[in-house]
Amino acid sequence: MLLAALFNGMPAMSQVVFAAELCRAVWRDRRASEKHLREFQAKRLNDLIQHAAARVPFQAERLRKAGMGSARDTSSVSLEKFSEIAPVDKSEMMRKFQETITDRSVTIEEVHAVDKNTKPGSVPWLRNQYLLSKTSGTTGTAGWFLNDGRSWAIQRAAVMARTIRDRLIPSELARFAFGRRYRMGFLVTDCPFSVSGQSAATSKQTGWLFASIRTISIRDSVDQTIKKLNAFRPHFLHSYPTYLEMIAVEKLAGKEVRFSPEIISVGSEPLLPTALRVIKQAFPKAMLTNQYGSTECIPLGNQCSAGRMHLNTDYVLIEPTERSGAPTPRNQFSDHILITNLVNKFQPIIRYRIDDSIRIQDEPCECGRSFPVFELRGRNDSVLDLLNDLSEWITFPPLGIVTVMLNIEGLAQFQVLHEAQNVLRIRCIPINRTQSNLVTASAEAEFTKFLRQNGCGRSVCLNVESVEEIPRIGDGGKARQIVSLVERKGCATDVHKGVQTTKLDKVTV
Ligand SMILES: [Zn+2]
Repeated sequence: MLLAALFNGMPAMSQVVFAAELCRAVWRDRRASEKHLREFQAKRLNDLIQHAAARVPFQAERLRKAGMGSARDTSSVSLEKFSEIAPVDKSEMMRKFQETITDRSVTIEEVHAVDKNTKPGSVPWLRNQYLLSKTSGTTGTAGWFLNDGRSWAIQRAAVMARTIRDRLIPSELARFAFGRRYRMGFLVTDCPFSVSGQSAATSKQTGWLFASIRTISIRDSVDQTIKKLNAFRPHFLHSYPTYLEMIAVEKLAGKEVRFSPEIISVGSEPLLPTALRVIKQAFPKAMLTNQYGSTECIPLGNQCSAGRMHLNTDYVLIEPTERSGAPTPRNQFSDHILITNLVNKFQPIIRYRIDDSIRIQDEPCECGRSFPVFELRGRNDSVLDLLNDLSEWITFPPLGIVTVMLNIEGLAQFQVLHEAQNVLRIRCIPINRTQSNLVTASAEAEFTKFLRQNGCGRSVCLNVESVEEIPRIGDGGKARQIVSLVERKGCATDVHKGVQTTKLDKVTV
């Protein structure tokens, strides 16, 4: 009881798992050879496949179809045999949700009930054991994923170890001995089902013994955020590139910013060159590091001090593929990737398709690490610049809009299109076609409320419609959720041009 209270409901054993995995992840990062990593990945893959064949009906059926029918048959799975398992996507897993889980007493109805009853800012541990996360992914389709305390702690430790990989050295650790606290700030969504918010919240639960950790909601205005960060002065700051870009813009425009992080970590969105330049210009002393992850597997890849991205092959098996399903040749950008999460046995993710495009490169990195180097060409959702009711510019980053859409019940897929200045079209595909009127009405009500809260209730023209299919726009036919056909306006553009004249009025989600 005491331990449960101490750790805010997070399973207490997870703290031990987190600490042990952190050490292992650091060791492999520094010492592991390519051969060791290959063998380690094969061992974890074997364990996962054996577990899935024996305990998870949805996966057992897929394995059977690939000629890997029983746990005994899979005792030495080769990568060749593994590649015969038919890929799966989110909608298929969601259709058979209950069969995808090791504990089949967990139902989708229970998940929906937790969805309805969880308040912003809290962490949804289902039955105090399983962490529930939700994603819209790259297609706008909602998906539910569960981790038990162990797999969540392992993945969190991996992300932490690889994000601050260059600072986990004795001289750095000694700086924070004898009572000097390391301060970590997370500027993230307070949506309880988003993995970035959950990562920040559980970091607080696992790391409070070693560091002062504060989370700040991206719902706060930029002014409030800067005030809070000025008071906290974090050594480490994590957020989404678009939010850090806005803070950087404010600093460059002359706002009093008194914090100077040693490490700035970004994730969840593509880090565009324009944002990178502005953040570096505003915080020249900070080491900027990029994380690549997904709801289905958090530690996909991390940046090293040489500026290259490395795949975390000890936690995930990634297969770049073409639209035809064929493997993508080395050194070429893929159409999709298939991911296999090597640590989540509670809801195994095996050869699961994500619409990200990556290029795995053959040449080694100058940092000397054995993990493969890759480049990411993620989805490119638009930032929307809208005029509010007072004719001031307001910037809406994509993640804030996605958060609103994720709250709409019965919505399967969506697209928000900024088709002319201050004219938005929202396209919805309901889960159940017979409820399309209900879903579009709910989308209209939620989005109107969101616009009104941000002072755009009268200035934005909103059209909500139910569609059969989401049109694919640009980027080689990829579906994009937030699309702007309107040229960007406002402060960010001006600072990029070096003309610091327009003040950014408000940042919102
Ligand atoms: Zn490197």
